[in-house]
Amino acid sequence: MDIDAYRLQAETFIGDLNLAYYRHFAGLDREYAVEAVYDRHATLFTPDAVEELRTRAANGEMAGGDAQRRSRALMAFAVEGHLGIQTRAIDAQLARLEASLTLPLGSTSTPIGFRESAAIQANEPDPSRRAEIEAARLAVTASELNPLALQALESTHAVAKVLGWSSYVAMCEECQAIDLGGLQRQTEEFVAATDERYYEVVDQPLRRATGVGLDDIGRCDLPRFFRGAEFDVHFPSQGLVTSFATTMEALGLDTSSACGITIDVTSRPAKSPRAFCAPVRVPGEIYLVVSPLGGRDDYCALLHEAGHAQHYAHVEPTLAFEFRCLGDNSVTEAFAFLFDRLIEEPGWLSQHLGVDGRGGALAAHARAERLIYLRRYSAKLAYELKLHGSQTTPLSDLSDEYAQQLTRALRIDWPSESWLTDVDPCFYAANYLRAWALETQLRSMLIEQFGERWYSEPDAAEVLRELWRDGQRLNAQELCQQICGAPLDFAAVLGEFG
Ligand SMILES: [Zn+2]
Repeated sequence: MDIDAYRLQAETFIGDLNLAYYRHFAGLDREYAVEAVYDRHATLFTPDAVEELRTRAANGEMAGGDAQRRSRALMAFAVEGHLGIQTRAIDAQLARLEASLTLPLGSTSTPIGFRESAAIQANEPDPSRRAEIEAARLAVTASELNPLALQALESTHAVAKVLGWSSYVAMCEECQAIDLGGLQRQTEEFVAATDERYYEVVDQPLRRATGVGLDDIGRCDLPRFFRGAEFDVHFPSQGLVTSFATTMEALGLDTSSACGITIDVTSRPAKSPRAFCAPVRVPGEIYLVVSPLGGRDDYCALLHEAGHAQHYAHVEPTLAFEFRCLGDNSVTEAFAFLFDRLIEEPGWLSQHLGVDGRGGALAAHARAERLIYLRRYSAKLAYELKLHGSQTTPLSDLSDEYAQQLTRALRIDWPSESWLTDVDPCFYAANYLRAWALETQLRSMLIEQFGERWYSEPDAAEVLRELWRDGQRLNAQELCQQICGAPLDFAAVLGEFG
């Protein structure tokens, strides 16, 4: 294998894939041309390519340092692409089905689309109607989507074995150099340590947003809670792009096309309502796509994606492909969390939105939301380790395990129907968990150096620029060690909960 040619083609593939993603979800192209992109670059993901890159990675382990990091990143890239090709027929079938399904509702004559149902549910103030939408969606999930999703899962597990790993868990651990079991022990300790305060942190905010407290709330009410509609008045649609621009300006961060970021605010009928970032070339061609709808959640999404965009835009152009475009996504997620959590900062709220966010309902909502997310992802990790690691249990038995894990962590009666659709590929839940821990450490460092209002200090952005330059060369553990001289530890997030 000509490894330099492989790297060049891999970079073209990623660029083509992200461009197709951008054009489809920005509403520019009706078709989502993923299959054609995979077809053009199929040679990247043959079993032989995977095997060779795995051998190179094994040799790279001995070399250590950047050689080891690069060879492991290339192996992970090839494995993920190979899995994508093996399961893409089922994935495409699932996507088409999801886009075409409608939910029959007794209370209205017009059925609603499966994909729009979550947003409609989040906007629905009536609890009984939220329950009706959710019940209809779960029924369709179980009858229509789950048979295909189970096929996709079984096929993924089989591919991991054909490639020579003992399980999908072992494959992901080796590709990402993560000790998933070790992380799970840390998150389990976090759940136990926050058990006592959980009720007090979440009950009132849940009641305020949904009309139902923790004792009676259902999973169907959670989208309404996350939506935070009671705060809409503070987060108007017309202030969204301005507050983003003034936030970046206060840090001295460029948002013009000169830094390689194109901000797409044009309204188009088929554009995704949720903000997203598509790094087509890192650095140099990054799209930040926004549909300014307004609301707390929308502000959070734009700042999150802006964190990704700034990270990609500042990567050193001469850095190796693997460090610019591949690596541990916990790192870019940590920078994204650092920015999206600004909407919880009382100082940021008053400076950019003229809102007094001290102590009141907004702060309590943010805290409750965070604890629910942290505990939900902790439970997801425990469940996904069983789902992907189990050798003996029939897979279908794991639907109960899913419901039990989530019910225990959130104390909300959790339905089992989404046991296959609420699973992210390649343990992305672990990336989020590690990113929350890394972001906590990063934020503490910035506060220590620049004060609580670090987000108004251009010198703080200078520190971030220095970290961004390195792309994802270091993984979350290594970056944490570099930033604060201590190992990455999920216990860091405990601090906020007393
Ligand atoms: Zn993200």
